[in-house]
Amino acid sequence: MGKILDGKAFANLRAEKLKEKVKDLKAQGITPLFCVINVGDNKASKIYVRTKKRRAESVGIIQKIYQLPEDEKEEDLLALIDKLNADPKVYGVMVQLPAPKQINVDRVLERIDPEKDVDGLTPSNIGRLWQGNHFVEPATADGILALLDHYNIDLKGKDVVVIGRSNIVGKPVAALMLERDATVSILHLETKNLSQYTKNADVVVSAAGQAGLVTADMVKDGVIVIDVGINHVNGHLVGDVDFDSVAPKASYITPVPGGVGPLTVEFLMEQVIKLTRRANGIRE
Ligand code: NAD
Repeated sequence: MGKILDGKAFANLRAEKLKEKVKDLKAQGITPLFCVINVGDNKASKIYVRTKKRRAESVGIIQKIYQLPEDEKEEDLLALIDKLNADPKVYGVMVQLPAPKQINVDRVLERIDPEKDVDGLTPSNIGRLWQGNHFVEPATADGILALLDHYNIDLKGKDVVVIGRSNIVGKPVAALMLERDATVSILHLETKNLSQYTKNADVVVSAAGQAGLVTADMVKDGVIVIDVGINHVNGHLVGDVDFDSVAPKASYITPVPGGVGPLTVEFLMEQVIKLTRRANGIRE
């Protein structure tokens, strides 16, 4: 049975350290504040926004929620972003995705000031990520790298397979692992034969959103498995990986729930604090 990579415990440990950083900022008269814009009625989005707010409050960060109607005009959303960009008390701005179809997501993300881009999704911050000179990272990817560091897992020279190529998870995980000298393959829906890649991988990161996608016959003994997937099956939360069959072959594995999920929220808060410190000239 592989060792469990306990994301929940690690996130709580990090939160304690983050509280100290928040205290330091407040002692200097700086209040970390970030804004989450949610457009429309997507149920999951509303839950995510509330989860973030709870976490923010628990570490002393103020999160303001802008809940906009399903038929919000793109120009009005852009005007709100402009207003928040210009407000010196606001250190972070993010738009909860997905957005309704009248909204051009690329145009909206591009409008966010890169210095306030807590999700790391503006073109310039994505570019910086691949250049290796980033100051903000998509939270899930940053959290995964920190979790591996916490367990002293070195990626140098490892063969990594990332399943999923979204801007928010798959691509940034791949970029950060490449930066750590791993050899990275990015797999997706059009990949002909997943097993051909996963069988040879030292590390498999699955961010596809499909329950039961990664099974024991697809991985080698000793594999390290990071399961990003969140799927609801018969009222249960499961990942992409068939945990019961894969865990005995793995050297390390993240559970779902309690693995990557708690890291994402914690590391979003860490991005807020990074940007708040940066805006106030405090270096890491
Ligand atoms: P997405 O739908 O934008 O992207 C999914 C990607 O997976 C696509 O690139 C697609 O090509 C690939 N894919 C889907 N099915 C596949 C298959 N059968 N074989 C190969 N590739 C396949 O999703 P996303 O936003 O990147 O999220 C991915 C999953 O991770 C979802 O389940 C989401 O809920 C979850 N997620 C979890 C966290 C967390 O904190 N744990 C954070 C973000 C996303």
